[in-house]
Amino acid sequence: MKIAVIGAVAAGTSAAAKARRTNKDAEIVIFEKGRDISYAGCGLPYYISGVTPSRYNVVMNTAQDFEEKYKVDVRLEHEVTEIDSDEKILYYQNLVNGKEGGYEFDKLIIATGAAPIKPPFEGIDLENIFTLRSVESADQIKDAVKRDDVKRAVIIGAGLIGLEMAESFSELGMDVTVIELEDQVLPPFSKEMAGLVEDHLKEKGVELILGDGVDHFEGEGKVAKVVTGSGREIEADLALLSIGVKANSKLAEAAGIEVGDTGAIKVNEKLETNIKGIYAVGDCAESKDLLTNKDVWVPLGSTANKQGRTAGENAAGGEAKHYGILKTGITKVFDLTVAKTGLDLEEAEAEGINAAAVKVKAHNHASYYPGTDDIHLRGIFDRKNGVIVGAEVIGGDGSDKRIDVLAAAIYNRMTANELFQVDLAYAPPFSGPKDAVAILGMVAE
Ligand code: FAD
Repeated sequence: MKIAVIGAVAAGTSAAAKARRTNKDAEIVIFEKGRDISYAGCGLPYYISGVTPSRYNVVMNTAQDFEEKYKVDVRLEHEVTEIDSDEKILYYQNLVNGKEGGYEFDKLIIATGAAPIKPPFEGIDLENIFTLRSVESADQIKDAVKRDDVKRAVIIGAGLIGLEMAESFSELGMDVTVIELEDQVLPPFSKEMAGLVEDHLKEKGVELILGDGVDHFEGEGKVAKVVTGSGREIEADLALLSIGVKANSKLAEAAGIEVGDTGAIKVNEKLETNIKGIYAVGDCAESKDLLTNKDVWVPLGSTANKQGRTAGENAAGGEAKHYGILKTGITKVFDLTVAKTGLDLEEAEAEGINAAAVKVKAHNHASYYPGTDDIHLRGIFDRKNGVIVGAEVIGGDGSDKRIDVLAAAIYNRMTANELFQVDLAYAPPFSGPKDAVAILGMVAE
């Protein structure tokens, strides 16, 4: 059995590791066009700020470590240029010496990920305009911010990565401006909850320009100014484009593999594509939304790891399923934890649910115990049966456990009353006798 994997970050390495655990005898080869393997993309903002001190901390394995541990052949700087899905052969180019070759496989796992969107704005090729995706891109940003003349950062896009980087650049002592086309930060969040994050960013000295986008960049060789659609001119020594990513699905599409309306590769529960024996996982693949049963594309490391494991098992002869996702995401924006799971009000209504949004503010733990913080919870409930279908949590310490309890509740179709009834742990340093989640359930009832 010969298993080929394309891509060696979260999904590809999970797939290869699980394939090896499932099948001790298979020949497993990973092709990766970059120079690093198995790195923590999610850790890059902390590597740039220095909170995570060394490159070694975010690159979890060297190719050699991985090869020894899993008995896998890792071919770095090898770009797969074509897949012949009839003959089951892939063609690659060695990017170091230019040599081309082919590899015949029995099973193929496509884990080609996603790439940052970089529109052809005038001036986009000026020095010090970056996107952040790979460790190499983080290294370039790290080198730029070390220079004395780089003091003002302009971030384009107020999504999760944009706001994580606003914190990182602030930690480095830079002046930070964030520009966002929508009239709020974190567009997937409700406006009222996003407002809490906006207030917090302003308190931390971040300038926000909302409802405006980039028109072009100006500078002599290096970026010096970002000019917005409304004509505002913002001085910049560095600009970071974080306006989203697109799935790397072209290689698969050219091989006759079906791509969905999302632009990512269509897969079934086994993560198999329309071509038998060819799987797709991680940021290049769709998932099933567990609440709407629709194919969605939500590129996250958590999903990439699970999908990789599932496809690795299946490619190696096992029988595993990935049921789907709730689109659960979380981030840290300075002192706030910001998290969301399930459907928002508009999505629920679009599904024909007679939905109601319920918002509460609670303490993270007993008010007499030091370090009390507020936690804001917003739940989306089905008025017909009280079932919770979505939630947002924004606040201090302990917000992370509340979103996870709520994700588990949504996964299990629990009602507002069950949120109150569930026997959550209590001691003063951790919660109140009625936990924030129980309070949300009580109010929603
Ligand atoms: P990728 O990481 O994109 O890896 C795909 C690999 O395939 C790449 O190395 C690429 O070079 C290689 N490749 C592509 N085409 C070819 C080819 N033709 N031949 C050979 N190799 C090829 N997710 C979370 O869940 N939580 C977070 O907190 C979080 N934070 C993030 C912060 C940042 C700054 C970034 C950038 C991402 C973050 N993510 C987070 C997202 C997470 O990093 C991704 O979901 C995850 O890396 C996806 O893994 P992947 O293996 O599917 O794809």
